[in-house]
Amino acid sequence: NYGGRQVFSEEKILVLVRLRPLGEKEIARNEVSDWECINETTILFRNSLQERSMFPTAHTFDRVFRGDCSTRQVYEEGAREIALSVVSGINSSIFAYGQTSSGKTYTMIGITEYTVADIYDYIQRHEERAFVLKFSAMEIYNEAVRDLLSADSTPLRLLDDPGGTIVEKLTEETLRDWGHLKGLLSICEAQRQIGETSLNETSSRSHQILRLTIESSAREFLGKDNSTTLAASVNFVDLAGSERASQALSVGTRLKEGCHINRSLLTLGTVIRKLSKGRHGHVNYRDSKLTRILQPCLGGNARTAIICTLSPARSHVEQSRNTLLFASCAK
Ligand code: ADP
Ligand code: MG
Repeated sequence: NYGGRQVFSEEKILVLVRLRPLGEKEIARNEVSDWECINETTILFRNSLQERSMFPTAHTFDRVFRGDCSTRQVYEEGAREIALSVVSGINSSIFAYGQTSSGKTYTMIGITEYTVADIYDYIQRHEERAFVLKFSAMEIYNEAVRDLLSADSTPLRLLDDPGGTIVEKLTEETLRDWGHLKGLLSICEAQRQIGETSLNETSSRSHQILRLTIESSAREFLGKDNSTTLAASVNFVDLAGSERASQALSVGTRLKEGCHINRSLLTLGTVIRKLSKGRHGHVNYRDSKLTRILQPCLGGNARTAIICTLSPARSHVEQSRNTLLFASCAK
C-alpha cells in the first residue's frame, strides 16, 4: 500500500480528469472558469449563462483533480499504483490526453519523475533482486517514428515480433542513476524542440512515448539455469493535442487531403473504447503506429491510466467538452 486514496482497478482503464488553474495571461484577459470539481469524482459544468446543452452537466470519473491539486497528488492518488506495477512484471501505460495548453506535458513530466524516484526507492529496499533499468524515447509525427535519444531524425521502421512490435534501431540506454535519467530527459526535450522549429508546432501534433523497462532477477539464482527474469515496461505517453482529433472528426474523411488527420490519436480512441467494453474480441491495434508500439502495454493484463487534462477557460469550453466525451467513452 502506497498511501493516499486508491482508485486502482485491475479490470478497467483508469480514467482521471485534471483541471488546470487559469494561467496569468488568461486572468489578465478576464477569462473565467466554467468548471468546478464538486467532489473527488465529479466535475460540473457551471456556466452562469447555462445555455441548453446536449451534454449532461455533471461528469463522473474514477477521480477528478481540481486546479489547486499538485502533480504529486495526481501521481499518488491516480497513477502510482499503475505505473509501479512494472516492478512486478506487469506492463503499463499512462496517457495524457487533452487539447494543446491543457497541461499534458506539465502533468507527464512530473509523473515520470515521481515514478522513477519510487522505482529507485523500491530497488534499494529489495536487495535480494538485481535490477536493470532501461530507457528509450520516441516521437510519432505524421505516422513517422523518430528516436528522441538520437540526433538522427530518420524515421524508424516497426518490425513484428511475437512479443510485440519492435522499433528498429531505437536507442535504449541502460540507466546508471537518477542523474543519468535527468540528462536523457533533457536530451528528449531538446530533440523535441529541434523538431518544433522545423516542423511547425510539432509538439501539439506529435505523440511522445517515454518508455522505462525494468528487468529483475533473484540474486541467488543469478547466472544459474533456474534463474528467471521478470521484465516489463511502463510507458509515459504525452499525446498530440486532442483538438486534432476533433477537427478530423468534424470534417470527416472526405476532406482528408486538406486537413491533417492524426491517425494515431483516432485509432487510440477506438482501441480505448473497445478495451473499456471488456478486453475481449478483435482490437485494431495495427491501424496506427502508436497503438502498434503500445499494444503489449494496452490490452491483456496490462494496466492503463488516462489522465484527461482540461483548461478551465470559457474560450476553451468546446475542447473541454470533447475531452470529457473522450474520457466518458474510455470509462
Ligand atoms: P500541453 O502539453 O497540454 O500543451 P502544457 O503542459 O504545456 O500543456 O501546459 C500549458 C501551460 O500551463 C504551461 O505553461 C504549464 O506550465 C501550465 N500548466 C499546466 N498545467 C498546470 C497546473 N496544473 N498548474 C499550474 N500550471 C499548469
Ligand atoms: Mg505539451
